[in-house]
Amino acid sequence: MKIVCVGGGPAGLYFAISAKLRDRDHDITVIERNPAGVTYGWGVTFSDPLLDSLYHNDPHSARRIFDSPASWGNQEVHVRGTQVAHLGGYGFAIGRKHLLDILVQRAIDLGVDVQFEREVEDLAELADADLIVACDGANSRVRRAHDEHFQTDADVGRNKYIWLGTHRVFESFMFAFEETAAGWIWFYSYPYNTDTTTFIVECSPETWTGLGFDELNPDESLTLLEEIFAHHLDGHSLMNSMRDLGKVPWLNFPRITNTSWHHDNIVLMGDAAHTTHFSIGSGTTLAMQDAIGLADSLDAHDDLQVALKDYEETRRAEIMGLQSAALSSTEWFEEVPGYIDQPVTQFAYSLWKRRGNYPLWRYQLHLATQIAILRRLRQSISALRTGFRAQQRMKLADHTISASYNPEIVSGSVRVE
Ligand SMILES: Cc1cc2nc3c(=O)[nH]c(=O)nc-3n(C[C@H](O)[C@H](O)[C@H](O)COP(=O)(O)OP(=O)(O)OC[C@H]3O[C@@H](n4cnc5c(N)ncnc54)[C@H](O)[C@@H]3O)c2cc1C
Repeated sequence: MKIVCVGGGPAGLYFAISAKLRDRDHDITVIERNPAGVTYGWGVTFSDPLLDSLYHNDPHSARRIFDSPASWGNQEVHVRGTQVAHLGGYGFAIGRKHLLDILVQRAIDLGVDVQFEREVEDLAELADADLIVACDGANSRVRRAHDEHFQTDADVGRNKYIWLGTHRVFESFMFAFEETAAGWIWFYSYPYNTDTTTFIVECSPETWTGLGFDELNPDESLTLLEEIFAHHLDGHSLMNSMRDLGKVPWLNFPRITNTSWHHDNIVLMGDAAHTTHFSIGSGTTLAMQDAIGLADSLDAHDDLQVALKDYEETRRAEIMGLQSAALSSTEWFEEVPGYIDQPVTQFAYSLWKRRGNYPLWRYQLHLATQIAILRRLRQSISALRTGFRAQQRMKLADHTISASYNPEIVSGSVRVE
């Protein structure tokens, strides 16, 4: 089958890899408008369940991804720079650029034609494709070209946010809330390599205009944020990945949903099909799981329409829980001033359960986590659990790689005759 993926983000690249692994005869092209190695954003988080599915799907690229991530074994909530509560939990993050570099290399090794610096302007360019995968992000042009079929709804969030980086490396996943004369402003931060941390700032539109961000140029915006969060940044500056373009990327998050995910030979995937608010850090995970889902459905059904229907039904059901958690989380962050006057331990618990309700023992665990010795115990248990899961995955990877040994594929690269 001749397949064209419009967009070389995690969805497009991982789908190309997954489809090639299932059928080497597919002729797959990924078209990306940016040059190789150029992308937006900083690090993205992911969790054990994603790692499990990546190892199942393609141990070669999964190993490279797992070789690279930064991890944390605690989350901290800081209010006014003086009050601190702990949330426990653990997770991983990897630089978005690094993740894409790994996926591009793996796709090329498998024989995918990855074309950079080509922007699809008109679908007529792709007339000879049997299948067009629209994985061109939240603002998908392919989707917009057939809006009457996909019937997109874009519900734009109230809060303003900006995705920055810094070399101030925190050991934990940090949430820090600061009160200014114009209202509350906060950041979420997590390391994604040894010397860089993602730093996402969010506030209400009233605080945003009250602080004058609507009139500041990119450098002035960052200087003001550095002043507000000086206590946490410890002398480090903030970095804007769009500085060279003269842009300061303050945005409102769009919650994208579509009535249909496929039309004729076009199918939506990743952010083009659905977005989930960044406060639950799952968009990349869902994009890569969509990629596996679409590859599975194409593999299972000879009829394209049956395969696309199967993909849409399966993935819609699988993402429902996270979409609802993302919506609750968005709403929680839009209501921060209503929660923040509680004692910090209660406030932190409210932040923890923003995604939904938890049984009572969770609250008791939260209270216990505030005690240093019990927190360390919880961290040790988490570390053991993570280590065990990692070992299981490695065993599975060794087994899968040796069982599917193909002389053409050695250590993840295809020998080209
Ligand atoms: C602030 C913030 C923080 C986030 N943090 C996390 C996180 O911690 N964990 C997580 O899992 N997710 C996170 N996400 C979400 C994640 O970034 C997205 O969900 C994910 O990138 C979606 O992947 P995708 O491949 O569908 O789309 P994208 O990554 O947007 O890729 C789409 C690609 O298509 C290309 N393109 C667009 N139009 C065209 C065209 N016409 N022709 C050719 N190419 C085109 C673009 O250049 C882009 O490279 C975050 C998002 C934000 C905004």
